[in-house]
Amino acid sequence: MTLEIVTIPCLADNYAFLLRDQATGKVALVDAPESYPIQKALQDKGWKLDIVLLTHHHGDHIDGLPELVAEYHPQVIGAKADANRLPPLDLALNEGDTFMVGESVGHIIDVSGHTIGHIAFHFPSANTVFTADSLMALGCGRLFEGTPEMMWASLSKLAALPADTIVYSGHEYTASNAKFALTIEPENTALQTRVADITAKRAAGIPTVPSTLTEERATNPFLRAHLPEMKTAMRMEGATDVEVFTAIRKQKDNF
Ligand code: ZN
Ligand code: FE
Repeated sequence: MTLEIVTIPCLADNYAFLLRDQATGKVALVDAPESYPIQKALQDKGWKLDIVLLTHHHGDHIDGLPELVAEYHPQVIGAKADANRLPPLDLALNEGDTFMVGESVGHIIDVSGHTIGHIAFHFPSANTVFTADSLMALGCGRLFEGTPEMMWASLSKLAALPADTIVYSGHEYTASNAKFALTIEPENTALQTRVADITAKRAAGIPTVPSTLTEERATNPFLRAHLPEMKTAMRMEGATDVEVFTAIRKQKDNF
């Protein structure tokens, strides 16, 4: 691995992540839900904070930033499209832009849908993507700002990354996502197996994040709207992928 990654539970059910470039010792943080657990993790590791990567403007992803900036003076990176409502950015980037954490190259992917201007951070050398509230473990973020078309396009971009990509999403919502997914595809054996694993992990207090893209493709209903078996499960055989995605998202909103 080119990056060492530390998962930090924050607030009730958020995750922040520290990533340390092994070659140079540079450390980046993905999202700042609250400062204390992040400061504690940095102290435990003996690391300082060089960069903060912000996925989107919601308070549960940025509210811890001011104290971290005051203590560590990191470079703050976020979406140019959202610069007007994010905390002050040192580097504002667009889809396709790259940035460095030491010698590790990060790529910006626009994953609008949950919010418009939500971005994901992809590190090909580490087979890793940080998706926050776009693609989540067995789920996807609610559509607060974007359209179903937008979210489906965003999820499709993430689904097209290499199958062994490790997906670090922003919340521990997996157990409730699992209950919902089983109502959509009760016969999906990969899903049944994964739900058993999730139940065991949660009972032991173990995070269900990260997951792999292979697992998500096989079990996450929101990545499966294009598949004939999903269209059959939804009784929407003649429908478009976006129509099926929209129907699944609507059912989840009312679940
Ligand atoms: Zn959010
Ligand atoms: Fe969130």
